[in-house]
Amino acid sequence: MTSATDRLEKVKADLRGAEAEFNRDDESVELIAVSKTFEADDIRPVLLAGQRIFGENRVQEAMGKWPGLRQAFDEIELHLIGPLQSNKAKEAVATFDVIHTVDRPKIAKALKAEMDRQSRNLPCFIQVNTGEEPQKAGIAPKDVDAFVKECSEVVGLNIVGLMCIPPVEEAPGEHFALLEKIAKRNGLGLLSMGMSSDYPIAVAFGATHVRVGSAIFGARDYT
Ligand SMILES: *Cc1c(COP(=O)(O)O)cnc(C)c1O
Repeated sequence: MTSATDRLEKVKADLRGAEAEFNRDDESVELIAVSKTFEADDIRPVLLAGQRIFGENRVQEAMGKWPGLRQAFDEIELHLIGPLQSNKAKEAVATFDVIHTVDRPKIAKALKAEMDRQSRNLPCFIQVNTGEEPQKAGIAPKDVDAFVKECSEVVGLNIVGLMCIPPVEEAPGEHFALLEKIAKRNGLGLLSMGMSSDYPIAVAFGATHVRVGSAIFGARDYT
């Protein structure tokens, strides 16, 4: 049976291969190991293998396992990649180092207020609903320019880039290309895009952060 550490090495090798293939600088794409639904015991071997950047999609779940892991391992960088409720902003700012899912003014303001209170200035990505799917979080492509301005200039958040989750049934490339175009016209350098099934394609379209879960940790069990 292959282990999470074997799969981590394979993903890292594939990521370096994609960088070379698509003329990206070596090690220029950050690998976020998405550990949602997995226990601290599943995550520890991946930490021991040297991985330090992780993603979680639920604040409550992350609060349960990461404080202990942070005591045992230095330099952990934890990214929030799931939807955020404003009543969880306090815990999110205390638990995470980077937020990928800013998607409405209320959340932007709640995050900024908490960051000021906790003297933390977390880099933030704005989530864009590139497929304009009604059930999916994120700012519609046509509204992103105004929202970036509002978040950076009015609210005062440190907006560093954009994030998207393409519709499952569509080819991801056009969504990645759209995200790259919107980021560029807004002067944003970072792109959080690409998951287990499509991260090499995301690298081709300029991803700076790929969020890879099942290809490292195995299939998730939600029961
Ligand atoms: C779960 C999740 C991922 C990782 O998905 P895999 O297909 O397991 O790689 C990436 N991004 C977000 C926002 C997620 O919720």
